[in-house]
Amino acid sequence: MIVAIDGPAGAGKSTVARMVADSRGWTYIDTGAMYRAVTLLALEQDIALDDEEELGQLAGNAEIGFKPGSEGVPRVFAGCREVTADIRRQDVTHSVSQVSAHPEVRRAMLEKQRRLLESGDTVVDGRDIGTVVCPGADVKIYLTATVAERAGRRRLELEEKGDAISQEQMEREIRERDEYDSSRRVAPLKAADDAVVIDTTEMNIDQVVAAVTEIIDKAQEGAAG
Ligand code: C5P
Repeated sequence: MIVAIDGPAGAGKSTVARMVADSRGWTYIDTGAMYRAVTLLALEQDIALDDEEELGQLAGNAEIGFKPGSEGVPRVFAGCREVTADIRRQDVTHSVSQVSAHPEVRRAMLEKQRRLLESGDTVVDGRDIGTVVCPGADVKIYLTATVAERAGRRRLELEEKGDAISQEQMEREIRERDEYDSSRRVAPLKAADDAVVIDTTEMNIDQVVAAVTEIIDKAQEGAAG
C-alpha cells in the first residue's frame, strides 16, 4: 500500500509520515530531503540557482539514498556521504524552493522517487506525491495548518537545535516558501482532488497520527473486503 502525505512546510507531514510508517514497519520516504540533498550539493559546488541545465544534471547524477536511523528518523545519504544534518541547514532551506522549481530537477527526482516507491508498503511525504509522483496512491492525505501555527512549530524545532528566530521572520519565510512551491509551473503544491484534507492547527501530533491511521485502516479494510 502507498500512502501519500502532501502539504505545506511545517504542517507535520514528516513527523506523521515517520510515525505511521514506523508503527506498521513500512518504509518512509521523505521527498523533501531529496530536494534538500540536491540543493546542498548545488550550494557546495557553487552552481547558480537559476542554472536549470547544471542543476538538472546534478539531480540526475546524485545518488540519494536513505537508511534507517534512530527513532524512525531516516538517515539521508548523497553517495556514501551522510547529509542528514547538513540538509536541514538554513542556507539549504532558503534555496531549496528555487532549486526544486526547475522542471529538469523535478524530472530527475521523479524518476528516483518512482523507483523508491517500488519497494512495497510505503508512506511518502512531499508536495506533489498525490498529484504527480503517485496519482494512484491507495491513500492520499493533505495536511495543513495556519501559517502562525506552522511557523510556531518550525521555531520550536530550530530552538531545539539552538537556533533562535522570531515568529515574524519565520512566518515570512514560510509564506515565501509556500508561495514559491504553490506557484511553480511544474508539480506545484496542491491537494489532489481525492485527498483527505486534515487541518492540524488545533491538533497535537498523536491526534493527527490517529486520524491518519484510521484513514489507512479503512482503506485496508476496503481493499480486503
Ligand atoms: O518537506 P521539506 O520542507 O523538507 O521540503 C523542502 C522543499 O523541497 C519544499 O519547500 C519544496 O520546495 C521542495 N519539495 C518539492 N516537492 C516535494 C517535496 C519537497 O518541491 N515532493
